[in-house]
Amino acid sequence: MNDFAVNRQTFDDVMVPVFSPAPFVPVRAAGSRVWDSEGREYIDFTGGIAVTALGHTHPELVRVLREQGETLWHVSNAYTNQPVLRLASRLEALTFAERAFFANSGAEANEAALKLARRAALERHGPEKIEIVSFSQSFHGRTLFTVSVGGQPKYAEGFGPVPAGIVHLPYNDIEAARGAIGTKTCAVIVEPIQGEGGVIPADPAFLRTLREACDTHGALLIFDEVQTGVGRTGHLYAYMDTGVTPDILTTAKALGNGFPIGAMLTTKAIAAHFKVGVHGTTYGGNPLGAAIADKVIELVSEPALLDGVKRRGAALTARLDAIGKRFGLFKEIRGKGLLIGAELVAAFEGQAKDFANAAARHGVMLLIAGPNVLRFAPSLIIDDADLEEGLARLEKAIEETVAAAADASAR
Ligand SMILES: *Cc1c(COP(=O)(O)O)cnc(C)c1O
Repeated sequence: MNDFAVNRQTFDDVMVPVFSPAPFVPVRAAGSRVWDSEGREYIDFTGGIAVTALGHTHPELVRVLREQGETLWHVSNAYTNQPVLRLASRLEALTFAERAFFANSGAEANEAALKLARRAALERHGPEKIEIVSFSQSFHGRTLFTVSVGGQPKYAEGFGPVPAGIVHLPYNDIEAARGAIGTKTCAVIVEPIQGEGGVIPADPAFLRTLREACDTHGALLIFDEVQTGVGRTGHLYAYMDTGVTPDILTTAKALGNGFPIGAMLTTKAIAAHFKVGVHGTTYGGNPLGAAIADKVIELVSEPALLDGVKRRGAALTARLDAIGKRFGLFKEIRGKGLLIGAELVAAFEGQAKDFANAAARHGVMLLIAGPNVLRFAPSLIIDDADLEEGLARLEKAIEETVAAAADASAR
């Protein structure tokens, strides 16, 4: 038996209060269904914030976890291991990349990317070329460097002094990018779709401008694909559908389907600026995480799976559009594949969380992206029946919330 009886209240008693978790406690899951400690069942439209791309307890991944767990978990980076070499080989066969560095999270992958960009600029151009260009509303993680580079000032406030040499520009503003990227710029970091910032896709012409400006000024273009990567948009990586190839790509979240692993991918020439000892990690590239990620990439890179993401994304968008029209609820539905944001009309401004809470009461786990956007990031292989059932429950939750708001304003 367990030594401690725990429930949601225990969180407030024992945890550092940086999160405000839902009132229920998930205890078990399979595919796109999750059960809480009271036995209530939920359809998961969150995928653990775009993490469990292959759903929960995927049999192939459980098998790899078990087999590798009974074989070799950890040997430190004083030794290499077969799973990490297979994973790097697979990622490099499928992308522009020629070299990989493994970490344990998205923030750490970005930290490596930003440090590498600074080091490469120093060695290639000298000590003046330090500026990192980033965009408003962007999110790159929670280390001090990544909150400083991220475009949401609230995450960096109160932690100063923050690293210097970081410039924030408006996202999708071609003129601003042309004007600001120059001889001092060492790197530009951009999400092909801003996830946390509200599910805002980059304009392809904007990404092309960034590529051109980086080439003109010898700066490195970093794509943060921590959220958009690993099949989420219907492509293995979102860059593949933009006509723009980055110099460095970061990936995490779905890479391990929930087992913590992140990676920084780059070219051989750029990787050469990280020499033995200049960067490192204890757990990064451990055989257990690498074996799981290798299986994830093998499964997600299947063309049939990626086609399924596009098909499900189109179906989800069409149903959301119909629901939105019925209640006059959505100003815009946007995104790509199965990363979809539905922005509330002005009448419901600031109420995204109310809709997510109502969805939970009706048995649907739903994300928000800021106060005005409902965010959908379900499993890439969610069953049609689960998708339909989840949408039916969500529609009821929306009906109830809209009616409650109408009652409140009539009173
Ligand atoms: C989630 C996210 C991160 C941070 O990843 P962690 O694993 O939480 O450190 C970085 N960039 C983007 C785009 C993300 O969505």
